[in-house]
Amino acid sequence: MQEYKLFIDGEWTGSSSGETFDDFNPATLELIARLHKASKDDVQRAVDSAEDAFEAWSRTPAPRRATILFRAARMLEERKEELARLMTGEMGKVLKEARGDVQEAIDITYYAAGEGRRLLGETTPSELPDKFCLTVRRPIGVVGLITPWNFPIAIPAWKIMPALISGNTLVFKPASDTPLLSIELVKILTEAGLPRGVLNLVMGEGSTVGGAIVKNKKIRAVSFTGSLETGKWILGEAARDMKRVSLELGGKNPIIVMDDADMGMAIDGVLWGAFGTTGQRCTAASRVIVQEKILPLFQKRLIERTKLLKIGNGLDENVDIGPVINNTQLQKIARYIEIGKEEGAKLVLGGRIIKPLPGHFIEPALFSDVTPDMRIAREEIFGPVVSLIRAGDLDEAIKIANSVEYGLSSSIYTKNITNAFKAVEKIEAGITYINAPTIGSEIHLPFGGVKSTGNGTREAGTTAIEEFTELKTVYFDYSGKLQKAQIDVE
Ligand code: NAP
Repeated sequence: MQEYKLFIDGEWTGSSSGETFDDFNPATLELIARLHKASKDDVQRAVDSAEDAFEAWSRTPAPRRATILFRAARMLEERKEELARLMTGEMGKVLKEARGDVQEAIDITYYAAGEGRRLLGETTPSELPDKFCLTVRRPIGVVGLITPWNFPIAIPAWKIMPALISGNTLVFKPASDTPLLSIELVKILTEAGLPRGVLNLVMGEGSTVGGAIVKNKKIRAVSFTGSLETGKWILGEAARDMKRVSLELGGKNPIIVMDDADMGMAIDGVLWGAFGTTGQRCTAASRVIVQEKILPLFQKRLIERTKLLKIGNGLDENVDIGPVINNTQLQKIARYIEIGKEEGAKLVLGGRIIKPLPGHFIEPALFSDVTPDMRIAREEIFGPVVSLIRAGDLDEAIKIANSVEYGLSSSIYTKNITNAFKAVEKIEAGITYINAPTIGSEIHLPFGGVKSTGNGTREAGTTAIEEFTELKTVYFDYSGKLQKAQIDVE
C-alpha cells in the first residue's frame, strides 16, 4: 500500500500534523492508499506558495503556458488505460466510463491549451475621435479549487486547465474518497514543466481543509463542484471577503417521454442516463416523466431491461453497474428507498443492498406511482433510483420537470418538433437534450445549471475562460487633448 504526501511549492511534503487518512476500493473494501491530511498551516503554506508563483506565471505568455498543457495532454493520452484502471479501483465506476472520464480530462487539456492562442477580448469603436477601446483578460490571482469524487480526473481537469491557461496559480483540494487521480494529474503537469508553486495540492476533510481554502483572505476566487449544502456554505463564507465563487451543484434531472417517442430509444436513454455511474452523476436522470397512454408498456419494458443489467466490480468488462462510493452513500440510498415506500410509491424493482458481495453494492431501483410532491421525486438521491411519474400532456410534463429546486440537465424523447422546441423553451435547466439522455456533456460547450444547481457560472466551453479571468477595459486616447465621453455634443 502506498502513502502519498501533499504537493506544496513544488515538493511532495508530509503534513505538518503528521495525520493521515485512508482510501478504500468501494468494490472490494480493500485499503489502497494512505494520504497525508493537510493542516491549516499546510493550507496556508500552499496559498503562500501560489501567491509567490503568481507574478512569474501570470507574466508568462499564454501560448507558452499552453506548451506545458499540450505536453500534459499527450502524457494523459499515453497513460489513459492505466489511469482508467486506477480510477475504477478507487471510485468504482465501470472501466469504459473511467476511460471516458480520462478522455474528458484529455479533451479539456487540449481545449484549454488551444485557448493559449486566443484568450479573446474585444475591440469596439469609441464614441469619440482619436480614441481606441478594447478589453483584455487578466488572471484573477490565487484560486482555490474544490472537487467531488464522482469524476475523479475530469472535474479537476475542467477546473485546473482553464485556470492555468488564464494565468492563475492554484490551491487544489480533491475529494477525500478519490485523491489518487488528482495526485497523478499533479505529477503529470509537474513533469510537463509546470513551475514550482503554480499548482499546490492539499488533501483532507472538506470542512477543515476545504474550509481553510474558502476562508483564506489571499484566495481571490473559489471554484467548487459538489453538493448544494456545501455550496451554500461556501457562497456565504466567500461573501465576507467578496471572493469570486463558481458553484456547480446537484441535480434532479428529468427525462420526459412523450407518447410519440421511439420507445426503444427512450428506454436505452433511461437505462444509460439513470444507471450509468451507478446514478452518481450530477446529471443522472432520476425522474422519468412518461405520458400516460404509453406508461404501462414503457414501465413493463423498462423493468425487463433493468433486470438484465449486471452489477459487480467495474474492472470486469461485462459489468454495467459498479458499487456506490462509500457506506454513507449506500445507507443514504437505502434510506431513500424506505422513504419512497412510506410515501406510497410502489417499488417495482430492486433497491436491495447486495450481500454477500463485499463492496457497497445496491440493486438499481424503479419506483412507479410517484407523485411530484414526494421526497424521492424532489431530493437528489445520487444513486441508481428512478421515479416514474405520469403526465397527461407536455404542459403537465414540463410543469413536473420544473417543480424541483434544481435545474441542471433535462431531456425529452419525442418525434414531434413542436414538442422539442417547447421543451427547449420552457424547461428550467442549464442543459436540454432532445432524443438523448441527460448525461454526456461535451467539453467545448458550456456546462452548468439554473436555480439551486449553481450561481450562474458555466464550466467548460468558451465560458471556462470567463470563470477564471477578470476583464479589463482599456481606452487609448491619442487626440492630444482632453476629450469628454458621455457628453452631448452639439
Ligand atoms: P460534497 O460533500 O459537497 O463534497 C465536494 C467537495 O467539497 C469534496 O472535496 C469535499 O471534501 C469538499 N467539502 C465538503 N465540505 C466542505 C466545506 N465545508 N468547505 C469546503 N469544502 C468542503 O459533495 P460530494 O458528495 O463529494 O459530491 C456529490 C455532489 O456533487 C452531488 O450533489 C452532485 O450532484 C454534485 N456534483 C455536481 C456537478 C456539477 O457540475 N453540477 C458535478 C459532479 C457532482 P471531502 O471529500 O473531504 O468531504
